[in-house]
Amino acid sequence: MLLITDIDSLRQFRNSCPPEARIGLVPTMGALHAGHLALAARAVQENEVSIVTIFVNPTQFGPSEDFSRYPRTLEADLAKLAPLGIDAVFAPEVASIYPEPPAEFAFQIRSLDRKLCGASRPGHMNGVVQVVSILFHLTRPTHAYFGLKDYQQCLIIRRLVRELHFPLEVVPCPIVREADGLAMSSRNVYLSPEERRQAAALSRTLREVRERLGTFSGTAEAKAFARQALAAFPLVQPDYVEILHGETLEDLDSLAPEGQPVAFIAAWLGKTRLIDNLPLY
Ligand code: AMP
Repeated sequence: MLLITDIDSLRQFRNSCPPEARIGLVPTMGALHAGHLALAARAVQENEVSIVTIFVNPTQFGPSEDFSRYPRTLEADLAKLAPLGIDAVFAPEVASIYPEPPAEFAFQIRSLDRKLCGASRPGHMNGVVQVVSILFHLTRPTHAYFGLKDYQQCLIIRRLVRELHFPLEVVPCPIVREADGLAMSSRNVYLSPEERRQAAALSRTLREVRERLGTFSGTAEAKAFARQALAAFPLVQPDYVEILHGETLEDLDSLAPEGQPVAFIAAWLGKTRLIDNLPLY
């Protein structure tokens, strides 16, 4: 497994790949857990060449967010990736990706950015689209693996690839969870033991909504039920509880399958913000 930290070496590596090869890319911010590793293992399995990127991208963090304290564990990450058969890890410094502050160009994302994390974290999706575009240009993958834990991000990247004609396929991958249902996240390490215990409320509530789907008159009642279920966990402070169309993220009144409803929760536990989602069919 090659560790690459500068763009020239990355270009060299990429140019050495056979022209017709399937190239799998897994973009991450490191602090790798089993969710990331599932994406990486799949990239190895489905491609001739697999590349994992590890880059804590400053432009997707708001000024009061956790960029500086985000966990950075490169040595441990490399030790987890090596046995999987990954060909190259690209782990650049911020100055390599942004030699000057990227002040001039920004993406304007329209409808898909209006709700959920797009609304709660202004500028976040712009930063994601910015860095993912840079990584696509540099690594030129044929297949790019993204986790459905970041459902809205997956939708936006899929649309980006379509509209900007990136010659690659986005491969959405299922959410990997802890035994109690908590979606794995690099941010789970921030949680105190009691916060960690109560964090399972997010996935449990989503499952309860799905199980009781037939008992709700529509999305309003289902969302009210979810808020009430979360209220039993005093350390869980909901940011949003939504049920939206799974392709367009439009509001839905009805829970009918035609709307492809997906339930979304974001919540604060102390200073840690967690997200989760579940398709209701
Ligand atoms: P991150 O390092 O948090 O930016 O995540 C990198 C990639 O891993 C993204 O495509 C995430 O959606 C994906 N990912 C993170 N956590 C999980 C999880 N629990 N299950 C599946 N994919 C995940």
